[in-house]
Amino acid sequence: MGKQTDKSDLPGYKFDFDHPLGGLRLDDPNCEEPNGSVASVENNSTSRHANVSESMLLLPSRKTMTPVPLEAVRSETRPRAAVVVAHPDDETLWCGGYILAHPEFLWRVVTLCRALDPDRAPKFRQVLQQLGAEGEMADMDDGPDQVPLPIVQVEETIVRVLSGGSYRLILTHGPMGEYTRHRRHEECCQSVVELWRSGVIDTGRLWMFAYEDGGRAYLPRVRDDADRRDMLTDDIWLEKRRLITDFYGYGHDSWEAQSTPREEGFWCFDSVQAAVKRTAFWEQQS
Ligand SMILES: [Zn+2]
Repeated sequence: MGKQTDKSDLPGYKFDFDHPLGGLRLDDPNCEEPNGSVASVENNSTSRHANVSESMLLLPSRKTMTPVPLEAVRSETRPRAAVVVAHPDDETLWCGGYILAHPEFLWRVVTLCRALDPDRAPKFRQVLQQLGAEGEMADMDDGPDQVPLPIVQVEETIVRVLSGGSYRLILTHGPMGEYTRHRRHEECCQSVVELWRSGVIDTGRLWMFAYEDGGRAYLPRVRDDADRRDMLTDDIWLEKRRLITDFYGYGHDSWEAQSTPREEGFWCFDSVQAAVKRTAFWEQQS
């Protein structure tokens, strides 16, 4: 599924040995770990809390080598991170590996659609439990016609489901979505950027999913111009796939199961100006 190409010898790439996913990444300061630590928790396990169980985690204070009790990690002192997506399953498809590999965050996952879907809504709640995340769903139109939604309405919905707070990191869709094509993904990205620009959303960093499918020529994969790319470990990859097949119930031959990327990619922004600038550039290109 994911690209297996070794790019470690290409200019601008380096291998990050400290990264919990053992990921390749670009030499981009925006892609440094946003959890405040030099390196992340050494935890490649598949179940977030059960396997964080080595009784102690080394959080930002690791610079002074002071262990932080697990109870403290579980408390509100954890840095907050949010995932803002159009649909239940987008969080798993596009960044499930990153969520699983970073239990040091207090994750909040919100969706624009499907709150009243009797099938997907309960599955989403089960997946949140597996991810150790809290979350909320809205029920914006998700009909097959993909009628454009007023952006102000999308923004108001995002503000409501995020329910305030400031975040260290927010993950959301790319400006052109991840495949050809779902308008809700694009509207979600546009709205998050606008909310950040206008100061309604408070986040230190914004990462956008960076995938493309060549206009349906192939399954979604990390874009060549992604700022960051993480090849998932076997454990994380299997758990991510399990959420898609066993919890969301997609058959192994389904588009979703086949598409579930083993490599995850992001565009990384630590300033709203950079996000607006690149989003405007992509809009011109499209
Ligand atoms: Zn979606």
